[in-house]
Amino acid sequence: MNPFEYVRADEISDAVGKPRFIAGGTNLLDLMKLGVETPDRLTDITRLDLKSIEDYEGGLRIGALVSNSDLAADMRVRRDYPVLPRALLSGASGQLRNMATTGGNLLQRTRCYYFQDTDSPCNKRTPGSGCSAIGGVTRLHAIFGTSEHCIATHPSDMAVAMQALDASVEVEGGDGSRRIALSDFYRLPGDRPDLETVLEPGELITAVVLPPAPPGRQTYRKVRDRASYAFALVSVAGIVSMENGKIKQAKLAFGGVAPRPWRDREFEAALAGQAPTKETFDAATDILLQDAVGQGGNDFKIPLLRRTLRAVLTELCEE
Ligand code: SF4
Repeated sequence: MNPFEYVRADEISDAVGKPRFIAGGTNLLDLMKLGVETPDRLTDITRLDLKSIEDYEGGLRIGALVSNSDLAADMRVRRDYPVLPRALLSGASGQLRNMATTGGNLLQRTRCYYFQDTDSPCNKRTPGSGCSAIGGVTRLHAIFGTSEHCIATHPSDMAVAMQALDASVEVEGGDGSRRIALSDFYRLPGDRPDLETVLEPGELITAVVLPPAPPGRQTYRKVRDRASYAFALVSVAGIVSMENGKIKQAKLAFGGVAPRPWRDREFEAALAGQAPTKETFDAATDILLQDAVGQGGNDFKIPLLRRTLRAVLTELCEE
């Protein structure tokens, strides 16, 4: 591991503008040990007053330092946003969830094998060096939103649930605070896969805001290679409300399939107002999957996503 300077921030104003933050460290420290991340300086933000969950604008404001465990256990979250604890508890392990923070979870890096191997060319780690995954082992890789420069997936479960919940992210920077819809927070790789979010250098995530609880039923289903402590091959966060035997509104986000939590409004619109039949689900899923492109080793994700989605919609549409 490279030597680095370590400082602690006591106030948000002390931290903003600094080059690199560390909180739970559950992803960053691993990457530093692997030599993937080589910061010269770390600013420890764990003393900042960002550890509360507050009622806010009819919904909730979740401090960036709320641990994944505390967020999953909060009674308001469990009652009004059950998709979120289900997603959180499907990720990592108990020990990791105790350390991992809400802000850090949003910013965790891809688990692409080649990104974590400093002997392999990787445009995300070293821009312009090439992408070893293209033509390589692609079991974990994306079917949506890829580019010729990167086909990695975003690994978070929590962010997928938050995407379905229409969450937004509060950040503090040198020019003050701003709020960014989670749907606008992540960048697609394009020709700069090293730039993963719209955060400016030195901007600090201070909170995630959940809007008022949506009507309807919620669930999170994750398909993975083993029963626990594994990243999603495919995951679905779903929120569906029904009226007079038809789907009134459907909000669905997908994990394990794209460089960011994936959501498709055209697909959701195709479900609205329809009877919850297999034909309805299949016709809407055709719209979702029309942009899906397999890389060989992950071709199975296309039919897997269709089957997982059908199961989730069947569960959520039951009267
Ligand atoms: Fe790197 Fe992205 Fe290619 Fe993986 S898919 S090797 S992260 S450029």
